Amino acid sequence: MTIQDNFRPAPPAEISEPAEFAALRSRVRAMLAEHVTPERLNKFDEAEEYDVELFHEIAAAGLVKLDGELHGPGPGHQAQAVVLEELGAGPTSVGVSMVVQYMGVQLLHSYGNHQQQEEFLAPLHAGKAKMSFGLSEPDGGTDVARAMKTRAVRREDGSYSLSGQKKWIGGAMDADYLIILARTSETARSAIDGITMFLVPRSTPGIRTEVIDTVGIRGLAQCDVYLDDVRVPAANILGEIDKGFRQVLDTLNGERLNGAAVALGIARGAMETAIGWAREREAFGRPVGSFQGLQHSLVDASVKIESARLLLRQAAEASDSGPGTNETWSALAKLAASDAATTTTDVGMRVMAGWGFFRGLPMQRYFRDARLYTFAPLTDEMTRNYIGEKHLGLPRSF
Ligand SMILES: Cc1cc2nc3c(=O)[nH]c(=O)nc-3n(C[C@H](O)[C@H](O)[C@H](O)COP(=O)(O)OP(=O)(O)OC[C@H]3O[C@@H](n4cnc5c(N)ncnc54)[C@H](O)[C@@H]3O)c2cc1C
Repeated sequence: MTIQDNFRPAPPAEISEPAEFAALRSRVRAMLAEHVTPERLNKFDEAEEYDVELFHEIAAAGLVKLDGELHGPGPGHQAQAVVLEELGAGPTSVGVSMVVQYMGVQLLHSYGNHQQQEEFLAPLHAGKAKMSFGLSEPDGGTDVARAMKTRAVRREDGSYSLSGQKKWIGGAMDADYLIILARTSETARSAIDGITMFLVPRSTPGIRTEVIDTVGIRGLAQCDVYLDDVRVPAANILGEIDKGFRQVLDTLNGERLNGAAVALGIARGAMETAIGWAREREAFGRPVGSFQGLQHSLVDASVKIESARLLLRQAAEASDSGPGTNETWSALAKLAASDAATTTTDVGMRVMAGWGFFRGLPMQRYFRDARLYTFAPLTDEMTRNYIGEKHLGLPRSF
């Protein structure tokens, strides 16, 4: 039997962290070890299907709700980062769907009223409902506020009519609820004002979703969402009217952290795969991992992984202890993790050479999936702009 017939990645390394998070990590690892095999991961990626059973298993293990009480501030950032790193290293697409789920949960904790928390948040906590988040549009992701064409027009009975198109909306075709951002005022004092968040059950008449064919994260459908006179009651406005985009910007810190956590997981999964291969695959009578060129590249990638983890931990800890400098730490962590993911997957492809290209082994999946966090939820370029301005105190570059 050859190595590729029965290949298994190297086991994950022990991570030194506070007992509470070590226990949570062990729980997630045990759950994944019980339910997820390399064959299952490959099957859903190849079929371009969402592993909804796995989502239910994650929710049943209490990993959506974590330590968040229904009417409290929401789950801790450090806990979310642990769960998402582990998912990123294995079922990455489900990890990406959990980033969206946590975003919806956080927005409802921060801005939902009592009634909305009972109606929308409780089923999300319990894993009985899935959330998608509709911000990006065909004409703009980075500068979405200026590019936004989706409109919400107030009707005589006080309800709203939403029309427009959202682009790249992760999981929208399977979601139970959508958070849709739409322009509600044409005369706001700036482009980022005059936009409102709406909680919209996906079954509302006038919503149509179409799957977009993408190169990565193929286990989670990215969708076009078409809105044609979608009627939404005023009771489903999330947060303040005309302030929705500013509210989203306030929660983007958490999404950056969570994107960083999945990217770190991808980097780690790719590293474990590369090491497993480098130890077993032989050339010239020696394991390929004994060749210095490959070994040094793996070492350099692992420095990026460990640095990203330290930044992420610092950022998540700062976010859990309240507002302050946490947003610049989150931006630094996101950039470090996206770099760790692209570097490690590139090195991994070199280590595995032809077998890196083989669809039956996971390296090509990590290599494709790693691209996501170079531009989502915020592109690396915009993240650099932010760090230049807020961390280095340089003039705004755009
Ligand atoms: C798989 C996937 C899942 C996604 N999930 C969701 C989702 O669930 N919900 C959602 O709302 N969106 C989602 N998105 C959209 C994602 O957030 C956007 O792709 C992202 O914000 C970038 O926008 P864009 O692709 O339109 O790039 P553009 O905004 O067109 O940017 C193009 C390039 O210009 C650069 N650029 C722009 N402005 C500047 C500047 N001032 N300085 C320097 N460089 C600049 C960018 O960095 C980038 O390199 C998803 C996308 C994908 C592919």
